[in-house]
Amino acid sequence: MAEDGERGKEAARRARPAAAAGALSGPGTVLSTERGWQYAPAPEARDIVSIRPEYGLFVNGEFTPAATGRTFATVNPATEESLAEVALADAADIDGAVAAARTAYDQVWGPMPGAERAKYLYRIARILQERSREFAVLESIDNGKPIKETRDVDIPLAAAHFFYYAGWADKLQYAGFGPDPRPLGVAGQVIPWNFPLLMAAWKLAPALATGNTCVLKPAETTPLTALLLAEVCQQAELPPGVVNILTGAGETGAAVVAHPGIDKIAFTGSTEVGIAICEAVAGSGKKLTLELGGKAANVVFDDAPVEQAIEGIVNGIFFNQGHVCCAGSRLLVQESVADHVVERLRHRLTTLRLGDPLDKNTDIGAINSRQQLDKITELSAAGEAEGAHRWSPPCELPKKGFWFAPTVFTGVSQSHRIAREEIFGPVLSVLTFRTPEEAVTKANNTPYGLSAGVWTEKGSRILWMAQRMRAGVVWANTYNRFDPASPFGGYRESGFGREGGRHGLAAYLNV
Ligand code: NDP
Repeated sequence: MAEDGERGKEAARRARPAAAAGALSGPGTVLSTERGWQYAPAPEARDIVSIRPEYGLFVNGEFTPAATGRTFATVNPATEESLAEVALADAADIDGAVAAARTAYDQVWGPMPGAERAKYLYRIARILQERSREFAVLESIDNGKPIKETRDVDIPLAAAHFFYYAGWADKLQYAGFGPDPRPLGVAGQVIPWNFPLLMAAWKLAPALATGNTCVLKPAETTPLTALLLAEVCQQAELPPGVVNILTGAGETGAAVVAHPGIDKIAFTGSTEVGIAICEAVAGSGKKLTLELGGKAANVVFDDAPVEQAIEGIVNGIFFNQGHVCCAGSRLLVQESVADHVVERLRHRLTTLRLGDPLDKNTDIGAINSRQQLDKITELSAAGEAEGAHRWSPPCELPKKGFWFAPTVFTGVSQSHRIAREEIFGPVLSVLTFRTPEEAVTKANNTPYGLSAGVWTEKGSRILWMAQRMRAGVVWANTYNRFDPASPFGGYRESGFGREGGRHGLAAYLNV
């Protein structure tokens, strides 16, 4: 994660006077118009990536077509260009992958000493670092997120997860789970499209470190980096069957979840699907962890350093186009400074650059899919219809692809849908409060409980707030900071179980 505040300074350093304010700087790059300057195009070369026309499933260490021969297209959301046809896994493929994972678990990976398993994880981590540019470019193309985020956040954090859990593999007896904690067996893992490689790393690294084998289902709209990770598994000479990757749609995910040969399910995605998975595994004896949605409060007190808080607010909701389960989508700002904070926020938003995800200056990339764009559009329209005031900086959206301008709603009340429902897009709802007690009440007035932020110069107030806000993660004077050593997970409709850190081991051990 870029340092809070650094983004703004870096942007200012690189800014140049505009020949024509608001002009396009290149195909697909659209500039904010208010500041009167523009950026030269800085496109990342995409030739480091070679996208194949077709991809198979990764089963038992080999790429193989789906048994039915069916495929689906994955598209670049910034251009709507079809990138590749990807195999669509169904029941027979899942049977094959689960059988391969079971054999690998029984014969190779389960009995292997932790120190030996660690060597493979370190190898994967190092290869991810070596091939980081390739991964970053591919992730930006398939997902639509800006290259500076894939380059500086997604890929380094994915490698860091493998490094971190490699370190645990031979120390499980000291992790606080008894003298000889045992793996669960075969893990079925279903991941979303917002951080495709990073979520794969969050799932695979702890599972492998603890001695489980895996059947992973990436999201339909973002399968390519998971398949490149499969190539990394081959390159690292991971024994066949230890990691299996089955591409497909929701039905493939549901069939993985329901498969009787799987011992544990780990899911990240919507609360709706999380509930369906709970029902599907109930009574089956499968262990389950769910990381679901959120509607986090980012609380700004009147003594907060405003410019620093502005960077935290921007990072909280506009990072990754707001496709973040822990996004600070509700800004709660103390009434006495609300006008000033909103004015500074609007000013800052006029400097954000929306456009080509492969341009190194881009702050806001494409929305991942038309379906998600429709959801954001519908909820934003509901915000207006319910009486909130909508504002976006002046910016022209590219004609092709899926785009949504950064949007701020003021005059939001707690009953509005935009204050209650997860929008999962670059849309911020601003509410106000007068007292710390009111801030806590409003922050907790949500069925979710994944994350929260607090901005104040008083350490005592940070601790007071953190004790009272019902959220799995509370950031203080920062936002959206992640570290593999730090557990992450939610309360209530945000799910249960923790990923990351020592706690993340428990999800894959028989404890
Ligand atoms: P989903 O929950 O549908 O997708 C997450 C993953 O689950 C995908 O791999 C999906 O496959 C798979 N899946 C879908 N249906 C099932 C099922 N019945 N059983 C098992 N797996 C299934 O999220 P969406 O992509 O539909 O996004 C909808 C909303 O969910 C977003 O607007 C956002 O609010 C929220 N969301 C939250 C995320 C988070 O990090 N907490 C991440 C993504 C979305 P496929 O992609 O092939 O359909």
